[in-house]
Amino acid sequence: MTAATHVVVALASISLYESYFGGSASLLSLPVIVLGSLAPDIDNSGAIVRWRRWIKPFVGNLLADAIERALLGVSEVVRSIFGHRGFLHTPVFCSLLFAAGSVTGWEWVTHFAWGYATHLAADMCTVAGIPLLGPFRRERVSLLPIRTGSAGELLAVCTVLALLAIRSFGSVLL
Ligand SMILES: [Zn+2]
Repeated sequence: MTAATHVVVALASISLYESYFGGSASLLSLPVIVLGSLAPDIDNSGAIVRWRRWIKPFVGNLLADAIERALLGVSEVVRSIFGHRGFLHTPVFCSLLFAAGSVTGWEWVTHFAWGYATHLAADMCTVAGIPLLGPFRRERVSLLPIRTGSAGELLAVCTVLALLAIRSFGSVLL
């Protein structure tokens, strides 16, 4: 899935987060959830190059260059250790993040883990899938035949938004 889709899915999932964990996500938690929803693709240098286009209008050319170079350096190390859509794309790694949030009591870590989980769920709907049982098994599991950047992805995003609208405003409309 593209970065835009991951952000939309993460933001759309917030009401689900609130009903699962109780309370309401604060405005400050939104950027952390969004960051978590993009983080698994740190193992994909192509995604980082595309992120640069997003951050350039906010931070300027020089800083965008510096951030891109730093992230590409991290990406190279991470990819050489775990591979693309390797351990960082497993529910086991995501569970470790939730556990870290629970053990430390740091709510922002749980918010990050939630965004991270939405990324894995979205990637599992692509044709490439994710290593659902990794690191114990390498086979990737794919629930839907959606190709990244395709019309199918756009349709999936529209469906998510429509379901969110029904959930949010259904009682008002019906
Ligand atoms: Zn991914």
